Amino acid sequence: MPEMAYFIQECPTCGRTLHVRVEYLGKKVVCQHCGGRFVACDGPAGRASLSDSGLLMKRASELIQQAEERKHRTH
Ligand SMILES: [Zn+2]
Repeated sequence: MPEMAYFIQECPTCGRTLHVRVEYLGKKVVCQHCGGRFVACDGPAGRASLSDSGLLMKRASELIQQAEERKHRTH
């Protein structure tokens, strides 16, 4: 099982910072603090390109790659 990659998103309902798994990019998630539903996206740019699944996949793989690099550096 590979290490999970996360990105940071602010909940649009309660404003808290959430760690969202990259696999949820572009998908509906529920805030663990307030229960608010929203679509996971990585920043305003991600929000603008939600309909472009190609861009989302690219961004997701970038985040996964970054996580992989972090993992390698620690060893
Ligand atoms: Zn919330």
